[in-house]
Amino acid sequence: MSNILSKFAAEILFKYHQRAKLSMETTLVLLKPSCVQRQLIGEITSRFERRGLRIAGMKMMQLTDQILREHYAHLVERPFFPALAASMKASPVVAMAICGVEAVQVVRAMTGFTNGRAADPGTIRGDYAMSNQQNIVHASDSVENAAIELARFFKPEEIFDYKSALQGFIYSIDEC
Ligand code: UDP
Ligand code: MG
Repeated sequence: MSNILSKFAAEILFKYHQRAKLSMETTLVLLKPSCVQRQLIGEITSRFERRGLRIAGMKMMQLTDQILREHYAHLVERPFFPALAASMKASPVVAMAICGVEAVQVVRAMTGFTNGRAADPGTIRGDYAMSNQQNIVHASDSVENAAIELARFFKPEEIFDYKSALQGFIYSIDEC
């Protein structure tokens, strides 16, 4: 009997430990010129809000070659980089800091594959994009990169740590 009880206690402790590991994260989203020009700012923002994610920061800005060379450092040597940079400067973008439990991978999954033609229906790119380049949104791909990218686009005081009044209905008590 005591064996069963201690196994039960160990299971509860394990589950508690697993739950305690859930992390509240903030990720960077850019609504690209392909989104701004097609007048989809409201529609795409609304998808994140409807999912239960919290908008912690939001601003319109004109990107420059300097910030694009940093942001797309992994692509600077690729032949398509000049076209990519031009597409990202074609109008202002909207930068968003989006917050939620495991937000980095949740937002990335909502974004879908890079090429809109290959992206699954139901994802943002799968619902709104037909291009490998003009693909509506950028989303950070890891927690480490999210921190770097948020610092690139936002001053600390532009990201707001307010509590969502709906938090208790978006998450269970042990999730946040
Ligand atoms: N891109 C492009 N041609 C390619 C691959 C990427 O123009 O063959 C552009 C596209 O706009 C993409 C961005 O470069 O969103 C960044 O590429 P990455 O591989 O990081 O894809 P993402 O993380 O945006 O899915
Ligand atoms: Mg990327």
